[in-house]
Amino acid sequence: MTDFHDKLIAMRRDFHRHPELGFHEARTKSVVADHLRALGLEVHEGVGVVGVLKAGQGNRAIGLRADMDALPIHETSSHDYVSVDAGKMHACGHDGHMTMLLGAAEKLSQDPDFDGTVVFIFQPNEEHGLGAKAMIDEGVLARFPIEEVYAIHNLPGAPEGQISSRTGQICNSESLFEITIHGQGGHASMPQVGVDAITVGAEMVQALQTIVARKLAPGSGAVVSVTEFLTDGQRNVLPGRATLKGDVRARLPEDRKEIERHMRQIATGVALAHGITADVSFVTEFIETINSAGPVEAVYRAGESAGCEVVKNRPPMSFSEDFAHFSDAVPGCFLLLGNGTTGPNSQPLHAADYDFNDALLPIGAAFWVQLVKDRLPARKDRG
Ligand SMILES: [Zn+2]
Ligand SMILES: [Zn+2]
Repeated sequence: MTDFHDKLIAMRRDFHRHPELGFHEARTKSVVADHLRALGLEVHEGVGVVGVLKAGQGNRAIGLRADMDALPIHETSSHDYVSVDAGKMHACGHDGHMTMLLGAAEKLSQDPDFDGTVVFIFQPNEEHGLGAKAMIDEGVLARFPIEEVYAIHNLPGAPEGQISSRTGQICNSESLFEITIHGQGGHASMPQVGVDAITVGAEMVQALQTIVARKLAPGSGAVVSVTEFLTDGQRNVLPGRATLKGDVRARLPEDRKEIERHMRQIATGVALAHGITADVSFVTEFIETINSAGPVEAVYRAGESAGCEVVKNRPPMSFSEDFAHFSDAVPGCFLLLGNGTTGPNSQPLHAADYDFNDALLPIGAAFWVQLVKDRLPARKDRG
């Protein structure tokens, strides 16, 4: 193991020991900023941290993103770098994502063999889909006009160091909905007097399942899940109010909009059939992540040059990714990096015994360096 790898492992485990939740990444941000400053990068701190590395005279610029937040999960592993903050954990490998990008910043700052600007973007709050948008709202893309943007996410269960991606949609959108049914509560022995919100809600739950089955094309990959059914009823009191909450995933923006349209139609229509009303709130927290062809091809090439196994045109992921806001604004590629097939490295993301694979640290850093050298022109002022 090289000194560089040892240094990255120490860095990753330090992040792992000190997990912080979305928009509370204070320590993490200062550690990232300190590392970048120590490498001589220009550092900008806002809701996230941005490091800027310029070389040569060129105007071209690319952005590389890592996410910084952890999850409210109680870590169950017993290794010597477990979370010191019980109930919080780097269970999605963002500790590793940051470290790979800092490793790349180190290599590129030592040997800036490219002509242009690399913008290292460390975003907060990926898990709730709010951090990328907060950075964009703060002006990160206006201030640092990158032409392309990239992000790596580790993938447990895939072979260590395997790179995979696809052109087009790669991660689903996620929308949260809430349907409030305004019935008329009353005595459980006299249902004819009120309008029982549970009966109406039950009809809605059934009808909502027809959206994907009957309103979208087969194979859409969309999911409509009612996950909560809350009422103000008691054992002997029929509820006047019921609230249905749930989660919607879609691969395409068109499908997401159709789901919302049908959901509103079903909720108001079923309520109307019973002479009552219902309100619908539908909030899209994550938009669909869409990869552009050029950046995807660049990732395949850089992966091969860096000696990684590359899987082209992989199936889309079922999860959602906040990177979607960056790749919606600028052509980009979100790629997966295999985290390994055994032990904690193969446990699912967000599992309490998951762990990022330290073997990926130099692999990810080398991939980032290769991608920068491929995407920015060579230095003219060097031989
Ligand atoms: Zn996650
Ligand atoms: Zn993640």
